[in-house]
Amino acid sequence: MAERVIPLIDQRLAALGATLPALPIAANGLLADSLGRPLRDLRISVTDRCNFRCSYCMPKEVFDKDHQYLPHASLLSFEEITRLARQFLAHGVRKIRLTGGEPLLRKNLEILVEQLAALRTMDGTPPELTLTTNGSLLARKAQALKAAGLQRVTVSLDGLDDAIFRRMNDVDFPVADVLEGIAAARAAGLGPIKVNMVVKRGTNDDQILPMARHFRGSGVVLRFIEYMDVGATNGWRMDEVMPSAEVRARIATELPLLQLDPSAPGETAERWGYADGSGEIGLISSVTQAFCGDCNRARLSTEGRLYLCLFAGNGYDLRALLRGGAGDAELASAVGHIWQGRGDRYSQLRGTLAAGPGGAPKRRVEMSYIGG
Ligand code: SAM
Ligand code: SF4
Ligand code: SF4
Repeated sequence: MAERVIPLIDQRLAALGATLPALPIAANGLLADSLGRPLRDLRISVTDRCNFRCSYCMPKEVFDKDHQYLPHASLLSFEEITRLARQFLAHGVRKIRLTGGEPLLRKNLEILVEQLAALRTMDGTPPELTLTTNGSLLARKAQALKAAGLQRVTVSLDGLDDAIFRRMNDVDFPVADVLEGIAAARAAGLGPIKVNMVVKRGTNDDQILPMARHFRGSGVVLRFIEYMDVGATNGWRMDEVMPSAEVRARIATELPLLQLDPSAPGETAERWGYADGSGEIGLISSVTQAFCGDCNRARLSTEGRLYLCLFAGNGYDLRALLRGGAGDAELASAVGHIWQGRGDRYSQLRGTLAAGPGGAPKRRVEMSYIGG
């Protein structure tokens, strides 16, 4: 029996674009990669489209009217996403984040949310279900998302100054509408809300203090993200990165801060609380302080490729397996093998390796394709 099944598995795994051992791996939550890191966090990109053109992510000159987005048939269907997510949960994933592109552009997203919310982790509890959005459609969709089972949202907002923000999103989108989206999310109970601000030196670093002042005491956790060299189109330069230490120092000149304990292993943000107890901020130092050591995140692209690192050059084609008729055990086994072989730690190696296994790949995937 085994002899007749294994070649079939081999053939399907070949479609992944990788040679994987045929010996099946059962999903028992004990999976670890080659550096001993478990699999806990799954980020699912539900669309490669976006209505913004943030220069650090989808610069207008590259993502112009001639840019070819994925055709609808290439996208994983909600059923396919849910089926794959079930295998990841069986391997120990506890948190699912929907992202993109702009996830709220995917039609009927609340149906997917409902399907994912009905899944269970290894412990029999519902997965933590969150979404990262630019906030532009949030005011309209917050209630329906909450009703479908979404627990929290993270909203990206790079400044409070309307002119600066309009320039950064490069589609002239106003700050007020994003703030309205945040208010709607709060009213719908999608909290605690996080707000992500990518800091680009010379572009929006003068927004650090106004943002801190605005969100302090509001219950919203403002997180400052170092501008990353992700993808191959944003023209990244180190001198435009403002290290988190500098962001913190700038805030502390006016609002004293105390370091807080991390909330969970593998957490990307360093937590700092306002000394007067009026809330906390997060610092995501993806460039100056690598956090690969406990990185437990996997990323599923819009068309069903599994990426093991934000800076990976290639993904594993799980859609080919799915559409080739693989059963759940085969899918889970493939995920297991792929994760076991993972050795990615790009941020740790940044600057020391030009290319090669675990180092900077020659061709990097875009953030808008696999999500943040
Ligand atoms: N469109 C949604 C949004 O903007 O929230 C979700 C997808 S977006 C790719 C996810 C996150 O990645 C956002 O918070 C965005 O600011 C961040 N991001 C994109 N490009 C980045 C870069 N080069 N460096 C740091 N963060 C980046
Ligand atoms: Fe769109 Fe988000 Fe990328 Fe900005 S960061 S271009 S909103 S996907
Ligand atoms: Fe994880 Fe890759 Fe980022 Fe390191 S560089 S923290 S391995 S996603």
